[in-house]
Amino acid sequence: MSPNPKLFAVLLLLSASAFVIGCYRRFSLVALGRPENRLDAPGTRFSRMLRLAFGQQRVLGKPFGMNHFVIFWSFIILAAANAEFLASGMLPQVTLAALPAPLQHALLLLFDLVSLLTLACVLIACARRLFFPEPSLSSDYVKARSPEAFLILSLIALLMLAYFGLHAARIAMGVEIPAAMPVSAFIARHLPDALAADPAALATWSWWLHALALLSFLAYLPQSKHMHILTAIPNCFLAGREQPNTQPREQFARGMSFGVGRVDEFTWKDLFDSFSCTECGRCQEACPASATGKSLNPRAVIHAVKTNLLANGAALRAGEKPAVPLIGAEGEGSATEATVWACTTCGACMNVCPVLIEHMPKIVKMRRHLVQMKASFPEELATFFENIEARSNPWGIAPTERTKWHATMQVRPFEAGQTEYLLYVGCAGAFDARQKQVTVALASILDAAGVSWGTLGKDERCCGDSLRRLGNEYVFDRTARENVDLFAQRGVRKIVTQCPHCFSTLKNDYRQYGIELEVVHHSELIAALLAAGQLQLKQRVADLGRLLFHDSCYLGRHNDVYDAPRQVLKTATGAEPAEFDRNAGRSFCCGAGGGRMWQEEQEGERINLNRVKEALRQNPDTICVSCPYCLTMMEDGLKDLQGGSVRVKDLAEVVAEGLRP
Ligand code: SF4
Ligand code: SF4
Ligand code: SF4
Repeated sequence: MSPNPKLFAVLLLLSASAFVIGCYRRFSLVALGRPENRLDAPGTRFSRMLRLAFGQQRVLGKPFGMNHFVIFWSFIILAAANAEFLASGMLPQVTLAALPAPLQHALLLLFDLVSLLTLACVLIACARRLFFPEPSLSSDYVKARSPEAFLILSLIALLMLAYFGLHAARIAMGVEIPAAMPVSAFIARHLPDALAADPAALATWSWWLHALALLSFLAYLPQSKHMHILTAIPNCFLAGREQPNTQPREQFARGMSFGVGRVDEFTWKDLFDSFSCTECGRCQEACPASATGKSLNPRAVIHAVKTNLLANGAALRAGEKPAVPLIGAEGEGSATEATVWACTTCGACMNVCPVLIEHMPKIVKMRRHLVQMKASFPEELATFFENIEARSNPWGIAPTERTKWHATMQVRPFEAGQTEYLLYVGCAGAFDARQKQVTVALASILDAAGVSWGTLGKDERCCGDSLRRLGNEYVFDRTARENVDLFAQRGVRKIVTQCPHCFSTLKNDYRQYGIELEVVHHSELIAALLAAGQLQLKQRVADLGRLLFHDSCYLGRHNDVYDAPRQVLKTATGAEPAEFDRNAGRSFCCGAGGGRMWQEEQEGERINLNRVKEALRQNPDTICVSCPYCLTMMEDGLKDLQGGSVRVKDLAEVVAEGLRP
């Protein structure tokens, strides 16, 4: 029973007003973002929300996740108890006592046990932050031992302690049933004499303590990082329906601005993301740039978006220029240009984020601004962009050289209606001396399986992957349109690629240009040919020794192709390939994606060295890859680390060995 319903009603009104004003301030800032539709396919979105938000699927992926899972569900269960507390605080007749006795007892038992569990989990969370703070809990601006984290944990603990104090006192007074509340009853039996002497006073004090803790929590919530309690569940509903493996198309017209150079140029969903971050640090732990000491930390990027929005919100609402720059400055609320260029677009951050925040698309949007509005990019990219524009390949080699890889074999041109697959050779497959060997291996496999295939010869052009990931959307757009026209003219429907970047770009990005291509990566096609018996190997490949498979990000994480390469290697060698510690969805990038292949890497440890060191811990004889960039990065890493006799082979080369008589 409320000690003072009128006073409580006033306090509740104040707290609820602070809550509503706080929410309004933040959500009205979200509305400053550009429009975007995130309400399509509500059924799919809803079931994903159930799995990831309510099932806490990604949270449970880490050992400490169970603690958060319990706190999350306790919050939901105790929301009913707190609703009753608030209601009865103003209207004393609205209590659980109004319910039928069995239901009332069941609820009291549930609340009693859950409160104990919550208290235990809060103490564990405090101990973790105090005594075992993992590095991923801290970033430049948010520390594991921040006062805010302890304030929130203390408020939750206080709520639970006050809850037990109140019910123990009521049991001692004989107004509640001890059998329904075993924890409170235990406390009632062990109250210190001073408290046991006056249980009515204890009940009053505990009631007010509970009320003040609850109302303070409510008022503080929208101002704090625990805002995610309100936004995380809707964010899981609103996230992109698939993990982003492409970027939205940009419309080009005079007078328009391109990319994101100020915070209100993000979409509203980008801004909503920033209020949904739980500061858990999973993205920072998974990011190859963060792990190797670069200035990029995906968690800090999301934090910068939020801080920038809060700092500039008033000016933006008033139509004024923002005071804190989004890109190019040091400090909270900004991302430096080095940060923006350090991303390999590997998608590891998005793959682990428990609330489905989309980091990589935000970084690419900022790159678009730097490239298209400010012409500001690392020096070495100038040559790359020029080469692509002039000769449609990264090295600026004459297009006539594209056919040199098949000097030793007969290759037919793709003919509409006659040829089934276009072998899209790709720039690396056509020009890079080492990768040309992979192209020959793949061509010999296709021939051995009797696949009808052909190429576009010197007419093939770059697919534009690096252009798009680097933010040069204008040139990508032109490249994509030209390629789409060429495919349409030549009657291309089915494409096989040896490069996951070409694969992903033709398959996912080109869909935005109105063409539906059936694109397969060579690992998928070879797996299908082997499974159908269309490709027969002449021998088991035994001379490659212990073979370690490296997942390429654009094949695995971005396109969910994990099994096909493993099946191919198992069939070719007769054994499952060995695995990296970080494999499949948790694979660690080689460092070349996102156009990083064409940039210097001066900050921190080289990403490829980090990956090759991990490989060498497995004592492999051969590292097997399925990507031209990965091939280069692994070979370079092995040279730098003097990896002895360890070789790197593309999966097609492994299979081609099995074709030898
Ligand atoms: S996409 Fe990869 S490199 Fe980029 S921020 Fe995410 S984890 Fe880091
Ligand atoms: S962005 Fe996601 S993974 Fe990263 S800290 Fe925030 S909630 Fe965690
Ligand atoms: S180069 Fe390989 S590991 Fe690196 S991003 Fe591309 S696919 Fe991923």
